[in-house]
Amino acid sequence: MSAPGSSEPKEPPAQVRHPAEPWRIKSVEPLRLTSPEERAAALATAGYNVGLLPAELVYIDLYTDSGTSAMSDRQWAAVMLGDESYAGSRSYYRFEAAVRDHYGYEEVIPTHQGRAAESILSRCLIRPGHHIPGNMYFTTTREHQELNGGTFHDVIVDEAHDPAADLPFKGNVDLTKLQQLIDKVGAEQIPYVSLAATVNMAGGQPISLANLAEVRELTRRHGIPVILDAARAVENAWFIKQREPGWSGRTVAEILRKICELTDGATMSAKKDSFVNIGGWLAVRDPRLAEQARNLVVVYEGLHTYGGMAGRDLEAVAQGIEESVQEDSIRTRVEQVAYLADRIAGAGVPIVRPVGGHAVCLNATGFLPYVPREQFPAQTLTCALYLDAGIRSTERGAVSAGRDPVTGENRYPPLELVRLTIPRRAYTQGHMDVVADSVIRLYERREELCSGVEFTHEPSTLRFFQSRFRPLSADPLFGPVAGGQAPQVLPDPAEIT
Ligand SMILES: *Cc1c(COP(=O)(O)O)cnc(C)c1O
Repeated sequence: MSAPGSSEPKEPPAQVRHPAEPWRIKSVEPLRLTSPEERAAALATAGYNVGLLPAELVYIDLYTDSGTSAMSDRQWAAVMLGDESYAGSRSYYRFEAAVRDHYGYEEVIPTHQGRAAESILSRCLIRPGHHIPGNMYFTTTREHQELNGGTFHDVIVDEAHDPAADLPFKGNVDLTKLQQLIDKVGAEQIPYVSLAATVNMAGGQPISLANLAEVRELTRRHGIPVILDAARAVENAWFIKQREPGWSGRTVAEILRKICELTDGATMSAKKDSFVNIGGWLAVRDPRLAEQARNLVVVYEGLHTYGGMAGRDLEAVAQGIEESVQEDSIRTRVEQVAYLADRIAGAGVPIVRPVGGHAVCLNATGFLPYVPREQFPAQTLTCALYLDAGIRSTERGAVSAGRDPVTGENRYPPLELVRLTIPRRAYTQGHMDVVADSVIRLYERREELCSGVEFTHEPSTLRFFQSRFRPLSADPLFGPVAGGQAPQVLPDPAEIT
């Protein structure tokens, strides 16, 4: 490690190169550069929650890959073809065909985004006292399960909670944990198993087809359905192709179909794999469940042939699905994330291993070892990254985990992460280098960052979105960072094209 405060540029390790994109840029969106003083003032106004910053004051926005990807010229062209008929629009049928072709479920119900599909599915299937096992929780998914009276149980393999365990399929279900839950509460109290591919909260870790088949077999014996969270199932399919014996010769599209075949239905946030700014769906095989869900869609979203989306949105999703399974598209996506990870890890920064499909996750407890868990090291690090270079990241640790509904205590999940989430097709290698340089610069100053933040306002549900904090000391972290050596390497946006 170099001396604290040093900002020697690091050479990228030779083995990982930034992928050459299978597209060129036709339209650009200017970004605004800010001064350290401007950022310090903006962060204070935002209550030290980067989620409350005006996006205009963010230079590189890695808050989420949800709805932030760049649409293709073909998607924009499809937007003009949107049929805005209230009922049975042509765009609905194109959308339905794309979901059926690529995901294989017969009954397709559009929703405005993923959580609406989760809400409707949870209302249909969950009753008070039910138990829902899953491979790690996701924020909105668990929230809807709990709002409907269910209790979520994490049945992911133990290694998923260990950021250093470098294993190919850390999204897998621990079948013993699943069997134990079935034995304890009884199969009739389990409305479905909730499976994510990939597992967002574990840093984008995939589940293997072999594990999925075992889950299918176990749940079939007990008559329990399996519902897939398909938000990043294409990324999961790519990892299966790379890592799972026997699948390297198959296309990502074939593997995606295989994943879905092993499940009874899916909720989808099309804002992820399908490159749209808004959209989602619920799809199932059981026509009776579909009927029940359509009845609810009409109440909460819109008619069952548009479900909260305009005809043009349905067109963009349909086109996005086709593009998402193209091999060069998904390869570039995952390799860009790997490039950023390798630059960061090459400087010794602790990150979650292996690198997931949509994000690089910094292990905040390893990064800021002097900030106690009660002072939210991950939340603190998101502030530092913004102050240093205008980068917006996401806290995925104790603040996101919320409080235990029974005891009211803070939950301290084993993973205290800062997620650098990469939108698809939106940022270049220059941007990735700015991010890597900033992370490395802060890591080299980590000894100076000894105190964290505390709540000044805490909402009762999904608190991470709207909570506010204050720093616990006048730590240099919370002033303009780096004593005058703030980012010098920002590219001129005009040069990015
Ligand atoms: C984003 C996301 C959701 C929720 O979808 P929205 O479109 O944001 O409502 C559900 N599950 C996972 C894994 C996600 O990443």
